[in-house]
Amino acid sequence: MRTVAVTRIGSLRDPEEATRGQIGIVDLPDHPLGPEDVRIRVAYAAICGSDPHLAEGYFGTDVPIGLGHEISGVVEALGDAAADRTELAIGDRVAGNFLRFCGTCRPCQDGRQQFCEHLQDYNRPGMAETVTWHASQVYRLPDDVTLLTGCLLEPTAVAVRIADKTRVRVGDRVAICGGGPIGQLALQVMARFGATSLTMIEPIADRREMALRHGAEHVIDPTADDQPARAHEITGGRGYDVVIDASGSPRAVHGLLDLAAHGGTVVYGAMYPADFEMPLNLSDHLYLKELTLTGVFVSPYAFPRALQLLRHLEVEELTQVVYPLEDAPEAFAVHVSGRHPKVVIRCNDLEDGATA
Ligand SMILES: [Zn+2]
Ligand SMILES: [Zn+2]
Repeated sequence: MRTVAVTRIGSLRDPEEATRGQIGIVDLPDHPLGPEDVRIRVAYAAICGSDPHLAEGYFGTDVPIGLGHEISGVVEALGDAAADRTELAIGDRVAGNFLRFCGTCRPCQDGRQQFCEHLQDYNRPGMAETVTWHASQVYRLPDDVTLLTGCLLEPTAVAVRIADKTRVRVGDRVAICGGGPIGQLALQVMARFGATSLTMIEPIADRREMALRHGAEHVIDPTADDQPARAHEITGGRGYDVVIDASGSPRAVHGLLDLAAHGGTVVYGAMYPADFEMPLNLSDHLYLKELTLTGVFVSPYAFPRALQLLRHLEVEELTQVVYPLEDAPEAFAVHVSGRHPKVVIRCNDLEDGATA
């Protein structure tokens, strides 16, 4: 089955053609369909901000590395147990979680699925003609959610998980740093949560404007504005109760500590360079301000709620740029250019039975 993959390790932004990371299309064998498995004919797979990190060898350097974890599609085949014990049927429009939580290891039994000891067993690339996942990874899309919107279930689950980690209260002041897809989705989720003074911190003007269209009350351009002064002004000098980093930018992350209110929470909700270390003044930030600092690895227990939210979010702007599978290398070049908030690959031309 044709699969989009990293075919040479390297930065996709490397100006040198000879050393630049490469994206290609490779032919990988289908995974066998186990009794509890579901084979999905993939409709759409969205490019994720983390995919270029895979090209850089963050999770290993043996190429080809198959890509794609933000997918939607149609059920093509079901194992016997999956057919008997789930509501899934052939022809269902679905999306899902690229990770399977095994349910039997100690972390799974202890309410910490994200640290499942078998997390990688079913982590199979979805930017492909088909993908075979365990039934527990697969969610049927509501009738009024299109396949194109459905490929945003996974990033929406990340936004839900970020919201969980903030432990936000209705009325809390909230700032989000980074107006990429996760930041934009987190913004809408936090708006629905009753966030106030909702602020997007983002250097790209288009992304600030997008945030303003979808619930941000304020925007800060960290490259032009006096960020602490603006935050002071917006929050009446108190700071934000919740600060979320969705930028993953080493330049941006330290300054966020100073925007948080006393007793506030800062969620580092992105991936960061493996060798990056952030200075932390324990006296100022943890002793005097009692900040809670936390992060997000993967999204346990978040998919059912993300599925509920999908139809309520304004996500059209994230699905406007679509390339066919064979043009995936070009789609990745467009993704790293940052010209569009999100780039989607059409893996098969499927009829969409959505009622929307
Ligand atoms: Zn992702
Ligand atoms: Zn487990």
